[in-house]
Amino acid sequence: MKEIIGTSNRILEVDLSGSKVDIYEVKPRERRLYLGGKGLGLKLLYDRLQPGADPLGEENILAFMPGVLMGTGAPCSARFAAVTKSPLTGIMAASSCGGPFGMNLKTAGWDGLLVRGKAARPTSLFVTSEGVEFRHAGELWGLDTTETQAKLDEKRTGMLVIGPAGENLVRFANIATGDRFLGRGGMGAVMGSKNLKAIVVLGGACKIIPVDQPAFDRLKKKATAYINQNGITGGLYRNLGTPANVALSLKGNILPVNNFSDGTHAQALQISGEETKKNRETSHHTCKPCTILCGKKGKFGGEELPSPEYETVTILGSNLGVFDIEKIAEWNRICGKMGMDTISTGGTLAWVMEAAQRGLVRSDLKFGSPDGVSQALLNIAHKKGFGEEMAQGSRALSEKYGGTSFAMHVKGLEIAGYDPRGSFGHGLAYAVANRGGCHLSAFLVAQEVFLHLLRPHAVRAKADYVRFFESLNNCVNSLQSCLFTLFPYLL
Ligand code: SF4
Repeated sequence: MKEIIGTSNRILEVDLSGSKVDIYEVKPRERRLYLGGKGLGLKLLYDRLQPGADPLGEENILAFMPGVLMGTGAPCSARFAAVTKSPLTGIMAASSCGGPFGMNLKTAGWDGLLVRGKAARPTSLFVTSEGVEFRHAGELWGLDTTETQAKLDEKRTGMLVIGPAGENLVRFANIATGDRFLGRGGMGAVMGSKNLKAIVVLGGACKIIPVDQPAFDRLKKKATAYINQNGITGGLYRNLGTPANVALSLKGNILPVNNFSDGTHAQALQISGEETKKNRETSHHTCKPCTILCGKKGKFGGEELPSPEYETVTILGSNLGVFDIEKIAEWNRICGKMGMDTISTGGTLAWVMEAAQRGLVRSDLKFGSPDGVSQALLNIAHKKGFGEEMAQGSRALSEKYGGTSFAMHVKGLEIAGYDPRGSFGHGLAYAVANRGGCHLSAFLVAQEVFLHLLRPHAVRAKADYVRFFESLNNCVNSLQSCLFTLFPYLL
């Protein structure tokens, strides 16, 4: 097996318009300044995209970028980034994911894959250490993400696929790899606009070796011990997953309820991590490799399904006034199969419920009622009826019908499950995050509400904290380690 010391520095550049493939060699200066993952992906797109490029046009580029640590066995290093110009916001977007695609790409010997152009017909790419094969994907078009991955099932591969939402250019469509998603910013619509249904990578051709193995082993041991000793990474998240945040948000009055009109609710603990663990026979279902183990699966509706994450149980649950975990798991599954981001989907549905309540739009969707939500999700994915308008997101809806004051987005990206009125630093982070309403750019809610290290309603020094954590988180997202590793490394 071929050995790669650190990084191969080889990036595949695929042009779907002419079925052409080039290889770009990453320069040492680029590696030093931008590492990999999000940082290097943004730099490569900055160099290649023209100002004014249409996010759904042939000229837009999708970059898939494993991190520097991928394949080394470093704790929680299974993450990779996708970077593109977002059709939801019109600005650059990056999304991080822990599915099997990244590891396969890196161990196939590639440090990234850039895709531009538009195929003349539905296409899939098959990537090996030797290069890229273009395959007709007509028989896959129209299938959901689960069906597509089942059809493509090839041994030792990692896949990226889109569902009907991506094909139909829903502006918050995502990309699936296994049970995990490149969720935010409409990456799936960009793939759909290129007639690209799937990318399959056959990994395992190369072994990734750290430059200084003894030093790496020492640091890995230390990092693993930190993770295991930390109360959040070795305790709370390992036991309950991210829905552990429900009880913490409730205590801080920042749980999103009914389109962020309230921060608490008497039934809220029904969707907590504690309740799900108690009643759903949960077990670990994680990115690989992972030391923290926040991902869970459990029994919902008699089936074993991925357990909804905190953002999903809140934005697609409490924010709609629904506290029935069975319903939320069902909607999570529909979004997963259709290929839609649960945060933007939930934020858009919540806006519709409030707009209907205020008489701005006609809809039967109501806060507190699950009726009609499943159908609305399918209508969005297939752009049927009012679903066609909902597929544009809450910003576009509010600009058309009025109600911009309760469209809960920043720069077009719907905000995540923490009410900024109870966490000022987190609110500032939403406001200035480079991809829009992103909770992960600085995640000050942890220091302000969960850990009581900063006063949530104070403003002093908050700008400095946001700037510091934005920079730090971007480093982590460029190494492509899991952001949760920051808890043990900092506390
Ligand atoms: S902690 Fe969770 S998100 Fe992070 S790498 Fe592990 S399973 Fe993935």
